[in-house]
Amino acid sequence: MLFEKLGLGEKTLKAINDCGYTQPTPIQEKAIPLILMSRDVVGLAQTGTGKTASFTLPMIEILSGGRAKARMPRSLILTPTRELAAQIAENFDTYGKYHNLEKALLVGGTSMDKQIQKLDRGVDVLIATPGRLLDLFERGKILLTDIKVFVIDEADRMLDMGFIPDIEKIASILPFSRQTLLFSATMPPVIRKLTEKFLSNPKEVSVTLPSSTAENVEQFLVWTDSKRKMEVLAGIIKQDNVKNAFIFCNRKRDIDGLSKFLFSRGYAAKGLHGDMAQAKRTETFQAFKDSEFDLLICSDVAARGLDVSNMSHVFNFDVPFNAEDYIHRIGRTGRAGKVGRAWTFACKDDVKFVDAVEALIKKKITVQKAGGGKNSFGSVPKTVKAVDNKSKASHSKGQEKSKGQEKKQKTFKACSVKPVKQECKKSGNKPSQGGIQGFGSDIPDFFDN
Ligand code: AMP
Repeated sequence: MLFEKLGLGEKTLKAINDCGYTQPTPIQEKAIPLILMSRDVVGLAQTGTGKTASFTLPMIEILSGGRAKARMPRSLILTPTRELAAQIAENFDTYGKYHNLEKALLVGGTSMDKQIQKLDRGVDVLIATPGRLLDLFERGKILLTDIKVFVIDEADRMLDMGFIPDIEKIASILPFSRQTLLFSATMPPVIRKLTEKFLSNPKEVSVTLPSSTAENVEQFLVWTDSKRKMEVLAGIIKQDNVKNAFIFCNRKRDIDGLSKFLFSRGYAAKGLHGDMAQAKRTETFQAFKDSEFDLLICSDVAARGLDVSNMSHVFNFDVPFNAEDYIHRIGRTGRAGKVGRAWTFACKDDVKFVDAVEALIKKKITVQKAGGGKNSFGSVPKTVKAVDNKSKASHSKGQEKSKGQEKKQKTFKACSVKPVKQECKKSGNKPSQGGIQGFGSDIPDFFDN
């Protein structure tokens, strides 16, 4: 399929061509023609699938025909975070460079006066976080009666962040005749209800199953304890020769501590979280994007939708409390056909969260013990793939190993990551209480390095 077949105009095609894109991604192929036909669309797609362009490209076409009036934006995109808003704005700059569309960002943490001045001049595209938009609306600084296209991006994240009442409020003040597009990586019941309430006969397009994780992401689970977690993480970073990674923490307070720790170990690591000033967040993210440092330690909220490609690794320093965050997190690696690795560190109190993740992704994550082999992760050892999910050790139940499984695990041992069970046998350690196989007193090899 070629972009030319989707119904986009010359100027937009030229901008796409400038980006070097040769063909539309599946979500673009499905969504763009529908949006150009003025249909309401529900798009089930994760970040990394090209979903932002799937709505920005047709919106540029739709909006190219008119002119904005003061304080009356012609389209509205709601996003959960400022970073995501900035990325969407970047998309409009990139794909709309041969059009004369005015856009404005209404996000918290930046000067409201400047935003109001911009609105006064008239904008075609308004990209906003729900709180700031309602704030300005309630002050009478903005009129929403001319909105032709309304986009709710990352709806499931909006739900996690408690934005659904705000979205309902905003949707109910928009003109009835608008076109509405909703994008979400997953479709929990609340979001389903939202689509029924605010979209008119929507067409649903989906590029992944809601609970799927990318096939080309190798997923590993390490049972450890909170005191050792940082050391274990540093060991794997060294072992896998990690060049670029997201490291997710559940708590903001851990982000600074972990970045200091990794920095002290000689790693180029920086933290990103919601308590940082907006300017600092933008600067940090841009520096990461520009490869000025290697490891970005962040919270789910801060990282949501941040578009950085070519990530070799994702680390879940903590098992996410919300199982769906696991899918979002590890979606940062294994993009564009590349193989990526996702490591998750779990402590014994995390059993229920690991169970929830495994139930959602419908498979068990391969339990590994980090070893100190010399093998680097530059190219993923083929043998890693040989350990399939059915044959791996279980963290919750003692499992008999078949001969075939033993053989696979031996091959696996040759490549620097060691199956937990085998290691327990070697050291005489027993799985700890409750059947959890932790490190116990079995010190990982890399501590000796
Ligand atoms: P998104 O899913 O919107 O976060 O997009 C992920 C990345 O895919 C962004 O860096 C886009 O620049 C890139 N992208 C979007 N559409 C295409 C395409 N058709 N071909 C190649 N890359 C694309």
